[in-house]
This record gives sequence, structure tokens and C-alpha cells, in this order.
Amino acid sequence: MQGFNKYYPPDYDPSQGSKHALGDRARKLDQGILIVRFELPFNIWCGGCNNHIGMGVRYNAEKKKIGNYYSTPIFSFRCKCHLCDNWFEIQTDPKNTRYVVTSGARQKDEEWDPEENGGFAIHDPDKKGTPDDPLAALEKTSEAQANLTKVQIPRLEALQSVSEHYNADPYSLSLKVRRKFREEKKIDQQKRKADDDLKGRYGLPASLSLLEDDAEAKEEAKSAWAEARQKLQSQEGAKRRRIGGVDVVVTPSLSRPASGSSSASSKSSSLDTLRTRILSNTAKNGSTAQSRLSASSSKSILPIRKL
Ligand SMILES: [Zn+2]
Repeated sequence: MQGFNKYYPPDYDPSQGSKHALGDRARKLDQGILIVRFELPFNIWCGGCNNHIGMGVRYNAEKKKIGNYYSTPIFSFRCKCHLCDNWFEIQTDPKNTRYVVTSGARQKDEEWDPEENGGFAIHDPDKKGTPDDPLAALEKTSEAQANLTKVQIPRLEALQSVSEHYNADPYSLSLKVRRKFREEKKIDQQKRKADDDLKGRYGLPASLSLLEDDAEAKEEAKSAWAEARQKLQSQEGAKRRRIGGVDVVVTPSLSRPASGSSSASSKSSSLDTLRTRILSNTAKNGSTAQSRLSASSSKSILPIRKL
């Protein structure tokens, strides 16, 4: 079992009284002061020796409650400079959750600005939208007034006048609009009819949308036509050269017939050659067929020949 009685050492003298549990740090407790180890929360300059004292330097400070912010106690820490005999005091500031130097030193101004460092600042919700400065407020209202008179009112007036203009004579406006609509409709119908005719002629699907017929499209089609014709003619020329000495005139369907007598003569000559070729072919075929037949069965063929 754990002992829970107080231990009295052999040299205990009850007349001396009991010591505080915190020992020497509680020596000023009757003044409400407790001595604690305090670390500087920021850089300061000592008011006595004007030396810079860095953040994080520790002192044995006299901690004392000096007031309340609502229910939160405000403490002051009184420290003695380690370079001179000057004392400086730093207090807690619960309202702004920070420390402030109240006397004996200067705080180096290096406030952390959360908005500057990519964070979010906590804004006071009690603060009103209007600026505290009455002159600034006046300036703001006068700016708004100027905007109203220079921009908004003229715009409203212009809109009003336009509206009045259109509402003045609705009959004639309606007449105009309907006439225009009718004309456009007529043109549309004509266009659609022409398109349908074209589709019907070439067996195109009804859902196919045709391009608008303009000068550029016509020019393009013409050039494409000429190009295709050129190509065909060159192909035909090459073929003719390959055939060589045989005079075969192929009249391509696309090529326009050449003028007058030359075309007639070429036509007649081509017809003559065609006739002679057909005749020679039939003669050749006939002779070969006859020889083949006579070779296979000369007896059977004879009566037929007689007939
Ligand atoms: Zn100092």
C-alpha cells in the first residue's frame, strides 16, 4: 500500500513553519507576484542600453495579474535587462491574442500579416460597412450622386424615349414588319423550290442542305470542271500514243467536238477503218472456225455447207 502520510525528516523543526511548494519563486507571493521563466515573444530594443534583444531570450520575470478582459486575466511580466539595470514590462493582450510592450523597451515592428502571406485575416464582425472617417463617407456619397446624375439618369431617359417611340404608332410598325416577313418568306420558298428541283433531278437525299449559289462557288465549280477535263484529255493522249500506228480516234464524251470539215472527215475515216476491221475480223474468225470444224468432223459439216 502506498503511503499517504507526510514525511518528516529527522532534522524537522516545526517552529520554522512550512515552505511554499514553489520555493524561492514564491518569495513575492504576498504582493501577488510569482517569478516565472519568460521567453521574449518578439525582438525588442532595451530602453536603457538601447541594445537589441532577440526573440526567445529568457528572463526570470515577475508575473502579476493586473486586470481582466471579460473573464480572461491580463498578466504583466516584468523583466530586468541582462545588459543593464533597466526593467521592462510586457503584458498579455487577450483582445488581440498577443503580447505588448508597455514600458522600458521598444518592440520591433514585424507584425505577421496573414493576408500578405497567403492566409486569411480575421475581420471584426462588429465593424460597420461605412468608413469611420466622416469626410471619406461624404466623398463616397457624393461620388454615388455624381454617378447617378451623369450615367444612370441619362441612360434611363434614353431607354424611356426609345420605348415611347416604339409605342407611338403600333399599327404602322406592325404593317412594316409583316410586309418584310412576307417578302422574305417568298424568297425563301423560291429558294427551297429550286433546291428541291435540283435534288429531284440528281436523286439527292431530301435532308441534304445545299450551299448558297454565289459567284465564288460558281467560279470554283468552273475551275474544278476545267481541271478534270484537262486531266482526262491528257490521259486519252497517252493512251493514243501507246496504241501507236493504229489510227483510233476516241472522242471523249466530255471533250467538245472540233470545228466543221475536219471533224466530219475524221468521223468518216474512222467509220471506214472500223468497217474494214470488222470485216477482216469476221473473215478471220470464219476461216478459223471452218478449219477447226473440218478438222474435227469433215463429214458432218459437208451437208450443212451444201445447204
Ligand atoms: Zn538594457
